[in-house]
Amino acid sequence: MNTKDYISLEDEFGARNYKPLDVVLNRGKGIWVWDVEGNKYLDFLSAYSAVNQGHCHPEIMRAMTEQAKKLTLTSRAFRNDQLGLLYKELCELTHSHKVLPMNSGAEAVETVIKAVRKWGYKIKRVPENKAEIIVCENNFHGRTIAIIGFSTDEQYKHGFGPFAPGFKVVPFGDAEALKKAITPNTVGFMAEPIQGEAGVIIPPQGYLREVRTLCEKQNIIMILDEIQTGLGRTGRLLAEEHEGIEADVTLIGKALSGGFYPISAVLSNTDILGVFMPGDHGSTFGGNPLACAVARAALSVLTKENMIENAAEMGAYFLSRLNDIQSPHIKEIRGKGLMIGVELVPEAGGARRFCEELMKKGLLCKETHENVIRFAPPLIITKQDIDWAVERIEPVLKK
Ligand SMILES: *Cc1c(COP(=O)(O)O)cnc(C)c1O
Repeated sequence: MNTKDYISLEDEFGARNYKPLDVVLNRGKGIWVWDVEGNKYLDFLSAYSAVNQGHCHPEIMRAMTEQAKKLTLTSRAFRNDQLGLLYKELCELTHSHKVLPMNSGAEAVETVIKAVRKWGYKIKRVPENKAEIIVCENNFHGRTIAIIGFSTDEQYKHGFGPFAPGFKVVPFGDAEALKKAITPNTVGFMAEPIQGEAGVIIPPQGYLREVRTLCEKQNIIMILDEIQTGLGRTGRLLAEEHEGIEADVTLIGKALSGGFYPISAVLSNTDILGVFMPGDHGSTFGGNPLACAVARAALSVLTKENMIENAAEMGAYFLSRLNDIQSPHIKEIRGKGLMIGVELVPEAGGARRFCEELMKKGLLCKETHENVIRFAPPLIITKQDIDWAVERIEPVLKK
């Protein structure tokens, strides 16, 4: 079978909820992936930052196969020997007190919505069914019904209503707007420290610190969705560190398994997660020993192999190289660590065609929101690899 055969299989039998680049991959190692024709590509998406540690990291692989031979799933009806160890390691690493493990990022978001609402009723004493959570314009928190209900992207929600009430939207990066939107029934504020899917939108410096103060004053839970920005992507373990703050609740997912297995987690540093009583919430696969063993190894290599420092260093280098490119198509280049977006002017005809050109040169990138090319390679990328990439990016951007 060749590329065309695999694509026609997908097209014939699969739902068309994605529009992937027409490259069929069957192997990955480090920052590289190979297609079924044997062509090699530098992966500049890292599965939306789930593969921060690089493809098929040998140590995570070993943890996964060793654990798979022993025990994979018990459900939370029983305990397993990996869960408590993951909790402890996660709490030590992120300065949290409590962990609730789930599978996908969207489930972690759903979990925090439940927890914060219950906290609002039980602790803050908001009248029953009146709790409000404030979110930001252009947010991306996942694809479930509750979550798309507060999306401001028409395509994400059109045709899928009715939606859950209890959410308010304010502009991202505007602490004053948040202040005005707060009512006595506000229980939480949720945002991404840097908006990923919206096109790598970095808020003004000091914004998160102002939000932190505001939430504290008004007794509102500050929730940071670090599912994409977390675990080293921006050159810090968590993006909140850039502003020297700690959210009340932090959501992580994606790179928590280094791309091997779906696992996400809600981390809290107050007793927000303490409002859950047995039976309030759960997941058959959440916290299973295979996921926990994989996550423990994924976290371990992230710190042990200095991937976070490398992301900071290589990100700054890559950004400076990109800034040197003179092209009429470029409107703005934004980034922190290895989370970088190149926004093109509207006349450039969309980012998609640039991504297709880059693919022909051996670079896999994905456009986000029409006009932005996102560059987010695995955090293990070296200076030579970046030089190799820039040599190919420059002519494509100039064309
Ligand atoms: C990817 C992502 C999610 C959703 O994660 P899934 O595992 O795809 O459900 C939520 N929030 C942010 C910021 C993300 O980037």
